[in-house]
Amino acid sequence: MTIVDLPLLPLGQGKDPSSERGVECPGDLPAASDPDLVARARAAKEALGDKVFVLGHHYQRDEVIQFADVTGDSFKLARDAAGRPEAEYIVFCGVHFMAESADILTGAAQQVILPDLAAGCSMADMARINQVENAWDAMVEAGVADSVVPVTYMNSAADIKAFTGRNGGTVCTSSNAEVALEWAFAQKPEAKVFFLPDQHLGRNTAVLKLGLGLDDCVVWNPLLPNGGLTVEQLRDARMILWKGHCSVHGRFSPDVVDELRASIPGVQILVHPECQHEVVLKADLVGSTEFIIKTIEAAPAGSSWAIGTELNLVKRLADAHPDKHISFLDRTVCYCSTMNRIDLPHFVWAMESLAAGAVVNQIQVDPQTEQEALVALQRMLDLPGRSHKD
Ligand code: SF4
Repeated sequence: MTIVDLPLLPLGQGKDPSSERGVECPGDLPAASDPDLVARARAAKEALGDKVFVLGHHYQRDEVIQFADVTGDSFKLARDAAGRPEAEYIVFCGVHFMAESADILTGAAQQVILPDLAAGCSMADMARINQVENAWDAMVEAGVADSVVPVTYMNSAADIKAFTGRNGGTVCTSSNAEVALEWAFAQKPEAKVFFLPDQHLGRNTAVLKLGLGLDDCVVWNPLLPNGGLTVEQLRDARMILWKGHCSVHGRFSPDVVDELRASIPGVQILVHPECQHEVVLKADLVGSTEFIIKTIEAAPAGSSWAIGTELNLVKRLADAHPDKHISFLDRTVCYCSTMNRIDLPHFVWAMESLAAGAVVNQIQVDPQTEQEALVALQRMLDLPGRSHKD
């Protein structure tokens, strides 16, 4: 066997401009062992006062979330930031695409900071703009593009949202995906939806909420010629799903659901729609991160739950509800590794730099991309009903 000597490229080292990840953080970070990190973070935040607004995504570590002015999922946080125009600096404790959305939705005078530029999202990285443009060209060639409406999940890069905006499509979140798909199918006679980048959210919503069949869905694999699909398959499909998934939610498996049901009497399985279709089919309840939090808050004391979402959030829910039995729906520990990039040393470094007048790790979307992405986001905001509540 030949052993190929490949250089290891640890996450966060080197430069890859076409990726959300792989960008080195400049500057000297404080040591993780520094016992004064909490005090330093507090002091920097106090010094910045109203100039800074700290956003904390639900999947962030406790050591960071304690400094958040608001917590929430990506879209709620971006809107919260837009609601604080007096805040000069928005420190986004989350991942890259979220900071981009905050930059798009906030005013020109506000600067969005991501404490570690290596905090990307593996799902968002699975759809690169050149791959998506190639897929669109293939749909044009197959004669189906005129009936295709693109819908992209919030968890996508700004240039994918811009692609969606300029091609008549919209953005969706995990709580308004059903409304967004209904809207998309109503846009054209015999419309097809091109759903990016999470195949599971697209399939679960189309099949379980809109009543489409599994055979109405095809998967576009960007690594295969013509996405691995024939022209006939493209013509017959109602849903063209991008072959992307969340590396955290994609781990949950149906056999663990069976195991937990056998070992915990009365356990209710509560999962996020980014989970595989087979897992969602076996769950009692399916919904967005906010839905999961509200369900546990409203659950009676003594009830048992196994939750299929990111572990930081599951642990926090278990700590906050000691009167309920809360388990994680996986045999092994699995955090979102990129969310976890934002740790206390990076947070302290970003906050102290801002307090000293140096803006570091600013996330800036270029004006053209921003304008087109805003078109898609505005279509989402205009959707009827619970459209933009997450
Ligand atoms: S949990 Fe999944 S979708 Fe969310 S940031 Fe991590 S990899 Fe991306």
